[in-house]
Amino acid sequence: MKIFVPNLEKHGGGFTPYVQQVPLISLGINLPGDAELYMTVNVLAASVTGRVLVRGHWQAELTGECSRCLEETVYSMKEHFSEEFKISKGPPHEARERGAGEAEDILFYTGDLLDLKEYLRQSFLVSQPLKILCRDDCKGLCPGCGADRNRKECGCREEIVDPRLRSLTALKEKEMRRR
Ligand SMILES: [Zn+2]
Ligand SMILES: [Zn+2]
Repeated sequence: MKIFVPNLEKHGGGFTPYVQQVPLISLGINLPGDAELYMTVNVLAASVTGRVLVRGHWQAELTGECSRCLEETVYSMKEHFSEEFKISKGPPHEARERGAGEAEDILFYTGDLLDLKEYLRQSFLVSQPLKILCRDDCKGLCPGCGADRNRKECGCREEIVDPRLRSLTALKEKEMRRR
């Protein structure tokens, strides 16, 4: 995604909306399977005193393996961001500089075009979920027989080791019988 900064300057500090579907492959991200994967980027950009403010979010629908039951599953990623970019003089480079006493990072760009490619690429990479789940309450595979417990009860018994839990279970069973 590229933002032509002189266009922003015409708006005198006002925010201009940009929406674009960015193929992940164009960001240098090569995920196995579907080559048509993309992220939808939805931002507002403004040019304010030599800086370009970009804020908004990107989202992507992806497929992967559920880390509990190993089923192929569709999951989505979404990341909100708000960044400041500054024009860099001199040779083109991508630099990060921490402003004195400021917590935010200022990213640099060269020329009239602010290219968000590298920024989006890194944002995507650091947002990878640690765990993909087909659903929050996925029961996963039985450690005993390997059956997918979302589909069937395999009948394997899991030993309750904790004696406190055991007495709780006994209590529960008593109560059930009473009803
Ligand atoms: Zn699952
Ligand atoms: Zn089992």
